[in-house]
Amino acid sequence: MPSLYDLSLPELEARVVALGAPAYRARQVWHWAYTRLAASYEEMGNLPHALRARLAETLPFPDARVVRTAASEDGLTRKHLLRLHDGVRIETVLMLYDPRSDARGRATVCVSSQAGCAMGCLFCATGQAGFQRNLTTGEIVAQVLGFAREQRDAGGRPITNVVFMGMGEPMANYAAAWGAVERLHDGLGLGARHITISTVGHVPGIRRLAEARLPVGLAVSLHAPDQGLRERLIATAHRYPLDEILDACRIYTERTRRRVTVEYCLMAGVNDDPAQARALAAALKGMLCHVNLIPVNPTPDASIRRPPRARTLAFQRELAARGVPCTVRVEKGVEIAAACGQLAARTPTPRDERSVPVSIAGAVS
Ligand code: SAH
Ligand code: SF4
Repeated sequence: MPSLYDLSLPELEARVVALGAPAYRARQVWHWAYTRLAASYEEMGNLPHALRARLAETLPFPDARVVRTAASEDGLTRKHLLRLHDGVRIETVLMLYDPRSDARGRATVCVSSQAGCAMGCLFCATGQAGFQRNLTTGEIVAQVLGFAREQRDAGGRPITNVVFMGMGEPMANYAAAWGAVERLHDGLGLGARHITISTVGHVPGIRRLAEARLPVGLAVSLHAPDQGLRERLIATAHRYPLDEILDACRIYTERTRRRVTVEYCLMAGVNDDPAQARALAAALKGMLCHVNLIPVNPTPDASIRRPPRARTLAFQRELAARGVPCTVRVEKGVEIAAACGQLAARTPTPRDERSVPVSIAGAVS
């Protein structure tokens, strides 16, 4: 059965009309769902009781319960572990950027697009745990609206950005991920430029995004300057050769005039050599892009470690010297975000499903 957030406004109108109510009732429901951030049909006071009851039976809100939360010490990063209707667990993160350093005062939600992931990146806790299932559009949207409600109730700032950088490979679940983009844009009112999809390098997905109706941001997780190393780090990398990924990125930049974010997870002794930085700069030559260096977060595999800070900065200098814009991901408060997969991986099917605020150290150390 679809949920309320699975439907576009025209689809919702068709549903409401099929239930014998006028189409404007659908617009009221839409307004309650995305502007008033209602959590149930009961809240929709200006709708007839019978219609609310029928909708609750036939088009429920997605069943996504917060079973655990974690917050960073500065309170700027919060993570939810959600349990879905079939018991599957996913996580979602809210990152509030400090207004002192971020004039725009962003509030970014990092959503999961799948429960688990089948791409098999060696260094990723989600990948290590394997694939469970695709999420629906409604389950992706629910992650954002959950935080939007929490922010409203706490008098905090509304959600300004969404990144598909949680669990899963969004391009391997394109239709549902795109449906979520449309709901966030058409319903919640987020600008396409404030939505970013991150992919491990799924070429057909990048090409589709290049032609999409809304110019959403693209982040591509490369992690290596050559195909050989990529195949060692990502179990499924043989499917899409690096050259084809870069070609697809060029098509995207030409069509959208938008810069691609290249994510590069730095691992000591694996991909952090200055010569590899030079090779990466050569591979990206002439491309409208920006490299985001991410010192790897610890995962259950202890052989994967962060490089020393000096090594990271040396890598960055090599890129910058060759004209490739490059930043190192800020560490403060972002640990729990970058360690996506770890909260779910570390929660042993608790009997007690209450919301238990835990410290970050407790959640990810
Ligand atoms: N599957 C997509 C989106 C989700 S992963 C992708 O791979 O792009 C989002 C980001 O988290 C990716 O750039 C990934 O490389 C990064 N990531 C995964 N494991 C990490 C770890 N242990 N430390 C730091 N970043 C990690
Ligand atoms: Fe999947 Fe992305 Fe993790 Fe790789 S990094 S296993 S693609 S979620």
